Amino acid sequence: MINYLFQEQNWQTQLSDLITDPRELLDTLALSHDQLLSGALLATDQFRLRVPRAFVEKMQKGNPLDPLLLQVLPHHLELEEHEGFVTDPLGEEQANQQPGVLHKYKSRFLLTLTGACAVHCRYCFRRHFPYQENLPKNDDWPNIKQYIEQQPDINEVILSGGDPLTLSNRKLQLWIDRLSEIPQIKFLRIHSRVPIVIPNRVDEELVSILKNSRLRIILVVHSNHASELDDFTCSQLQQLVKQGITVLNQAVLLKGVNDSADVLVELSYRLFDAGVMPYYLHVLDKVKGASHFDTPAQNIDLIYKEVLENLPGYLVPKLVREIAGEKNKTPLFGASTF
Ligand SMILES: *Cc1c(COP(=O)(O)O)cnc(C)c1O
Ligand code: SF4
Repeated sequence: MINYLFQEQNWQTQLSDLITDPRELLDTLALSHDQLLSGALLATDQFRLRVPRAFVEKMQKGNPLDPLLLQVLPHHLELEEHEGFVTDPLGEEQANQQPGVLHKYKSRFLLTLTGACAVHCRYCFRRHFPYQENLPKNDDWPNIKQYIEQQPDINEVILSGGDPLTLSNRKLQLWIDRLSEIPQIKFLRIHSRVPIVIPNRVDEELVSILKNSRLRIILVVHSNHASELDDFTCSQLQQLVKQGITVLNQAVLLKGVNDSADVLVELSYRLFDAGVMPYYLHVLDKVKGASHFDTPAQNIDLIYKEVLENLPGYLVPKLVREIAGEKNKTPLFGASTF
C-alpha cells in the first residue's frame, strides 16, 4: 500500500516531522537538483518550505510539474515583483479588531488561534501576515467574549489561521467550550487543510469533540486537485460526514495545478465520493510572490463555463473573489465582472 506507513503514524508525529529542506523533497521525489533546487533555496528564505510526508506520498515521482508539488515547492518566480501583487491584498491588517479577531463580514468573523500551518502553500494570501502579533493569549478570552456579546448579528465563529487543526484536541475543546457558552453563537466553522495533508488528524477524539458540541460544526477543507484525495483521505473525511458534520471544500484556481475544466470536474466528483460538497473556487488573491499562479480572466471564464456544463449544479463550486472592504465574497461570472 502506498501510504500504509502514514496511516499507522499518529498525526502529532507527522506534524513534527515535516519536510522543510528542498533537497530532501526533491530527493524523495527522485527529482534532480538543477534549477529547481537553486530557485527553491532562494525562495524558501521568504516563506519556508513546509510539507507533510503523507502529502508528498501523493505526488508522482519524477514529475517536476506534479500539481501537488507545484503548490509547495518554492520557486524562483516568487522573488519577482509584479504590479498589483502586494503583501496584504485583502487589507486584513486594517480589519484586525483585537488579537485573534478578524471581523469583516456581518454574521461571522475569523478567530485565529494559531499562526502555524501543516503545509505552506506557495499561493497563500497570508504568506506575509504578521501572525505573531495577532494571536490571542489565554486571558484575552473575556475581551473576545465581550466583543461578540456587543454584536448580536454574530452567530458564527470561523476558526481560521494559520490552521486551527494544528492545535491539540485539548486546546480545540477548550475554545469550543468557551464559544458554546455564548448563546448567540450557533455555528462553528473550521477552515483547515490538515485533513488533506495529514489525514490522520481526523482521529477518534476529534470526531467525538465535533460530534458532541452544542454548536453546529462546518468543516471547510481545502483541496485543489483530485490527486490529493486518495482512498484513505476520503475515508477519513467520510468519518466526519457520517457523524453529521457538514464538510465543504474550498479550492483556489491555480495556473499549472487545476486551471482546466477536466481537473476541476474530477475534483468535484472525488469530493462527492468522500461526502464533501464543493463550496468555493477562489480566484487567486494577488499576493506578492504568487503571480506565476495567476490565470487570465478570459481563461477563468472559459474554464468555469465548461465546469458548469459538465457538472450537476450541486457539484459546482461558487467562483468568487475576495475584494478588500467588501461585505461578502464577490461572485464572479462573465469576464465583465472581474
Ligand atoms: C471568507 C471569509 C469569511 C467567510 O465567508 P463565507 O462567505 O461565509 O464563507 C469570513 N471572514 C473573512 C475575513 C473571510 O475572508
Ligand atoms: S494551509 Fe491555508 S493558511 Fe496555511 S499556507 Fe496553506 S493556504 Fe495558507
